[in-house]
Amino acid sequence: MKKGKKLYEGKAKIIYATQDKDLVIQYFKDDATAFNNQKKSTIEGKGVLNNRISEHILSNLSQIGIKNHLVKRLNMREQIIKLVEIIPIEFIVRNVATGSLTKRLGIEDGTVLKEPLIEYCLKDDNLGDPLIAEEHIYAFEWANKKEIEKIKKMILRINDFMIGMFRGIGIKLIDFKLEFGRIKSDGKDEIILADEISPDTCRLWDSVTDKKLDKDRFRKDLGDLIPAYTEVAKRLGILHEQSNVSAVNVTKLSSVKKKSK
Ligand code: 5GP
Repeated sequence: MKKGKKLYEGKAKIIYATQDKDLVIQYFKDDATAFNNQKKSTIEGKGVLNNRISEHILSNLSQIGIKNHLVKRLNMREQIIKLVEIIPIEFIVRNVATGSLTKRLGIEDGTVLKEPLIEYCLKDDNLGDPLIAEEHIYAFEWANKKEIEKIKKMILRINDFMIGMFRGIGIKLIDFKLEFGRIKSDGKDEIILADEISPDTCRLWDSVTDKKLDKDRFRKDLGDLIPAYTEVAKRLGILHEQSNVSAVNVTKLSSVKKKSK
């Protein structure tokens, strides 16, 4: 598939047109940002790992009937995905209280929630992705009730599946962010899961030690982000020897580069 012009560049990904108007190429960058872009860095190898991990999770979700934008992975950094009209809401799913929830409500960090909690944030970097109520979604017509009901059902199924998948490899799924979009299917709008699912968008803690295996390593300056993401990929069984070696080399390369600065 031929890569056309750049359509959009986000914080961690770039979208390119293809000769098919319904398909685009999603390129995973190595850039990491946090706190509404106030903290920025480039972490060599992150994009490669997120591409592989997200491909694995979205393919598995497809197999259990969760329609999503992934068509296929093209190479180490790129995927062909369906072009969707993105719903401007970040759907946050929480199983354990941590992060902004604990800060906002004074809940003790690590509190296990009885039921998964779904929160809505408006996808707007200029406003810092503010938390909104479901009523705001209808008031400003970001999505309709039927769409949100459908999305909520999909979210609970995705959460159940992912909790089980990660539990099987000794990882607790603490919370994560999902995005959804609309595509035309037989002339009708259909809601599908969009964006990536990776350690950039999930909080993943080792089941035994509670070691953080996600982007909090960057947000909280814990270091060793690439080894943590590599660990997730290895446990998911998606790193073959070849890519395993290259991920290790990437780590070495980036530490050499940092030292020489
Ligand atoms: P919190 O609201 O506690 O900061 O984040 C909750 C969960 O959603 C975390 O797993 C976090 O990674 C994810 N999340 C929330 N907003 C964003 C975002 O703008 N970008 C990314 N990559 N993840 C987000």
